[in-house]
Amino acid sequence: MKLLSVIVPCYNEEENVRDFYDELFKNTSFFEKKEIEVEVLYIDDGSKDKTAEEVKKLHAEDERVHLVSFSRNFGKEAAIYAGLRKAKGDLVVMMDADLQDPPSLLPEMYEYIEQGYDSVATRRVTRKGEPPVRSFFARMFYRIMNKISKTEIVDGARDYRLMTRQVVDSILAMTEYNRFTKGIFGWVGYKTKWLEYENIERKKGETKWSFWKLFLYSLEGITAFSTVPLTIASVIGVLFCILAFLMIVVTIIRKVCFGDPTSGWPSLVCIIMLVSGVQLFCLGIVGQYLSKTYMEVKKRPIYLVKEDI
Ligand code: UDP
Ligand code: MG
Repeated sequence: MKLLSVIVPCYNEEENVRDFYDELFKNTSFFEKKEIEVEVLYIDDGSKDKTAEEVKKLHAEDERVHLVSFSRNFGKEAAIYAGLRKAKGDLVVMMDADLQDPPSLLPEMYEYIEQGYDSVATRRVTRKGEPPVRSFFARMFYRIMNKISKTEIVDGARDYRLMTRQVVDSILAMTEYNRFTKGIFGWVGYKTKWLEYENIERKKGETKWSFWKLFLYSLEGITAFSTVPLTIASVIGVLFCILAFLMIVVTIIRKVCFGDPTSGWPSLVCIIMLVSGVQLFCLGIVGQYLSKTYMEVKKRPIYLVKEDI
């Protein structure tokens, strides 16, 4: 018999744990008919509420439910990685606990796997119910990202994905510390089918992503999957050198041929401000990469498990 592992990262999702379980198993009769067993792995990402207790209750009722609890909040990327490592399934799917990823899509996803796809991914075509400012920046991010990175990162892609064991093993082979999952999926490749659906709003609880968290996450994505910002810094440096050289030549000629007195300290102040700004900006870019490298070199574990049931 085959096994389908469902990975559910949870951070303060006590209200959603049971709803998710109910909704999931409402949609799995299809898999039973195909002789595929289903297991659920809740990854409790250091929740401060009763998420772990709720999962333990479910585990007592149904042994297909498993729990991995982190020692603190390590972030969704770490939770996904832990889930992939723990999952024993021949097929693995990742879903959010808030039911924004409809389990009713699972049979259709499985059919594509049967047709020979290695992975079936989903993307939302609308951003209904999201603040417009957030949608705007999200779109910008994807547009820039796809210009500066060779790895394809699909706009609106969700982490809701059904994968074969082969794809899971490839993702696990990427042991980097800074895990930008959307990029990692694109990087491993394989034949992927994209399904689209309308954005569904979160049922209970609230989103764990503030604007600031998303902004930092976008920087993570850029540094993890592109080195173009470093090139931009170098190009800006070269351009400023050329400009400075031309200005030196012009000043000398003016002095020698026309005897202009040296004047204009306001313009000098402006130039100093501009150039030092550009310098700090470029230094910042280098710093971003350096900090990521620093974290990577330390080789700290991506997550720590407190409980594994
Ligand atoms: N999540 C997590 N760790 C975190 C933040 C979020 O495991 O640090 C989980 C969360 O419980 C949910 C999923 O990741 O199951 C998606 O989070 P959320 O719904 O808040 O994000 P959104 O759908 O608003 O993008
Ligand atoms: Mg959500």
